[in-house]
Amino acid sequence: MNSSNTPRANRYNKTNVSGKTFYLETFGCQMNVHDSEKVVGTLVEQGYSQVETPEEAHLVLYNTCSIRDKAEQKVFNRLQNFKRDAGKGKVFGVLGCVAQQEGEKIFDRAPHVSLVCGSASYTRFGEMLVQIEAGNRRVTGLSLDTEETFDTPFTRRDNPHRAYITIIEGCDKSCAYCVVPFTRGPERSRTSESVMAEARGLAEKGYSEIQLLGQNVNSYRDPSPAGWDFATLLARVAEVPGIRRVRYTTSHPRDFVRAIVDAMDSNESICDHVHLPVQSGSSKVLAAMDRLYTRDEYMRRIDWLKSAKRKYSLTTDIIVGFPGETEADFEQTLQLLDEVQYDSLFSFKYSPRPNTSALAMEDKVPDEEKQRRLLILQEKQRAIQIRRNAESIGSVREVLVEGRHESLGQWIGRTSDNRTLNFSHPETGGKSLIGQYLSVRVTRSGPNSLVGESVTVV
Ligand code: SAM
Ligand code: SF4
Repeated sequence: MNSSNTPRANRYNKTNVSGKTFYLETFGCQMNVHDSEKVVGTLVEQGYSQVETPEEAHLVLYNTCSIRDKAEQKVFNRLQNFKRDAGKGKVFGVLGCVAQQEGEKIFDRAPHVSLVCGSASYTRFGEMLVQIEAGNRRVTGLSLDTEETFDTPFTRRDNPHRAYITIIEGCDKSCAYCVVPFTRGPERSRTSESVMAEARGLAEKGYSEIQLLGQNVNSYRDPSPAGWDFATLLARVAEVPGIRRVRYTTSHPRDFVRAIVDAMDSNESICDHVHLPVQSGSSKVLAAMDRLYTRDEYMRRIDWLKSAKRKYSLTTDIIVGFPGETEADFEQTLQLLDEVQYDSLFSFKYSPRPNTSALAMEDKVPDEEKQRRLLILQEKQRAIQIRRNAESIGSVREVLVEGRHESLGQWIGRTSDNRTLNFSHPETGGKSLIGQYLSVRVTRSGPNSLVGESVTVV
């Protein structure tokens, strides 16, 4: 996300007559990236303009992540660096998960912070800005008691071709390790009508790829009388004229029903990729994590996907070293990797988080052991990816062009099955290919990406 692989983020300003400037840095998941796009929209609507560095800004905002301890520490390091600027006319704000989790304690730890706002309070963000402008130096938005979702017509999108749509916020599950229910509040779905209107509006503006977002997208339940489930919404978004690709993330395995595979099979514009976080290959650990499925139930979903009409790439998330995870449990996770043959995965050492039930669990795994397991897991997956990616050599794949590596003289494309495919293309006379769909023959592969040559004549 927001890496050098994507087109440079737009910097926004309306007509700034007031000299109000802001800098916003985003940490964490795609939900946070998209929340920031909406926050930027609200700021610009209220007369602020975006600047490139915190030094230039009047208002410095951090949209934070607290999923693991490391992520949380980042924002406090940033704030520490700017302590000297307190009182020099700069105003600091902490948004998102750390804001919700730490609340007013942030004012004690970093007294130069004036605004602390969790994501469930973003609907009031505009009002909070007015309070800040009026000189209030202790402004908070920390209630989780909401049925609202943060929908705004002012979203300022970072990418001109691929757009996010949040369809569901919060989470009603209670995985033993996870802070999300405490930082993002209860599950709230948007109406299908508002999601469809946003999708059509994006297509009219020229966006061709849509990514549906939620902590658990497939728990989606339309609150309007239409009562669509996730599979129906996915299929309908994929039918919007002008939309060539639809992705979605993240799916919870318990709510991953067969109808989703059917919707994918019958809709070419739904991308050939499913991210289905397993967390562990041991049913004992899954039960301790309160994941609501067993290894066998998870594997049944994988079987549906492997026997589907189309070929789907599969990715997952894995946590190693959850309390009570024995060597035998870890072995079961390694065996699961052999069985599924994931195309990619995100792997994490278990990180104890505030408020979560796992904090009280015994049989903690020492950090060196977590590290050892992480490395073994990653090494195994690397070998699988080298093999999986090599299977693409010789095939012709459609890519959406997302960027350019000037130094390598290559364009950066993404396949429908979510692989990065860097490719050469005849001289374009300075014309950018970004945003186009091209056919590329794969000539080489590595563990994390493919390399090829364009076969499209532009
Ligand atoms: N809702 C998704 C699901 O149920 O699979 C996951 C969303 S979570 C924001 C993203 C990933 O972070 C999780 O799948 C998990 O692997 C990881 N994660 C969450 N809490 C963690 C913790 N305390 N320690 C390590 N990894 C964690
Ligand atoms: Fe966290 Fe579990 Fe909810 Fe996913 S389902 S966001 S891991 S509590």
